[in-house]
Amino acid sequence: MEFNAIDVRAKAENKEILKGINLSIKNKEIHAIMGPNGSGKSTFTQVILGNPVYEVEGELIFNGEALNELSTDERARKGIFLSFQIPPYLEGITLKNLLKKIYYLRRGYDERDLKPYKEFRREVEKALEILKLPPEFLEREVNKDLSGGEKKKSEMLQMLIFDPEFIILDEVDSGLDVDSLKAVSDAVNHLYQTKDNIGILIITHYNRILNHVKPTHVHVMKDGKIVKSGGSELANIVEKEGYGQI
Ligand code: ADP
Ligand code: MG
Repeated sequence: MEFNAIDVRAKAENKEILKGINLSIKNKEIHAIMGPNGSGKSTFTQVILGNPVYEVEGELIFNGEALNELSTDERARKGIFLSFQIPPYLEGITLKNLLKKIYYLRRGYDERDLKPYKEFRREVEKALEILKLPPEFLEREVNKDLSGGEKKKSEMLQMLIFDPEFIILDEVDSGLDVDSLKAVSDAVNHLYQTKDNIGILIITHYNRILNHVKPTHVHVMKDGKIVKSGGSELANIVEKEGYGQI
């Protein structure tokens, strides 16, 4: 996989939020973007998936193909997965039904086809095991009355079943206890280790998750721009010194 953002700018309600983002993620690279609140990190993730709220300039290229004119679901079908900072409640939809839909759509199966169901169940069992979740979890409505940690694990379950090529995690580590952080990191590392074709973008405020999922590249975003890039050592500098110095 390869993802390129070339001079990406985004506006919402006439406010300039992204002011020229350049980022290149190659196969098997793990990039982290850190940065103060309001710097445009979540906006960048939404722009990659084509949230129509944003007016976008510049190029978004995935595996050599421009994403700009594609709808969100077309982008997702290409293998781009976004885990939301604040996952929405989907009324009346159980996690199990959503997972089945994800599994079938992504692999191009007809929903009435019973043949893939067994393999789907096996994948779900494996995913539950990685995340240390009980099977009853599948019967819950998506994100209904879930704790912060459970919501993030639900996102990770969807990610595992989706089988992504490009994973984007928006503050997946915020508010997680040590065990949940471990489970979430295990899910990401599982995909990274078992897939030949994969790239990862982690948006985070903290070094914590980066101790579990080791980034190959770290960037600092400030006021809609990437102001500094480096290797994993940059995350330690941010942790120690804050964003002020940078
Ligand atoms: P971060 O994730 O880095 O904290 P965001 O991308 O959420 O930052 O937001 C960056 C800035 O853009 C903030 O000032 C936010 O209020 C503004 N913003 C984001 N989305 C919208 C929108 N849809 N409409 C208006 N302003 C927005
Ligand atoms: Mg954000």
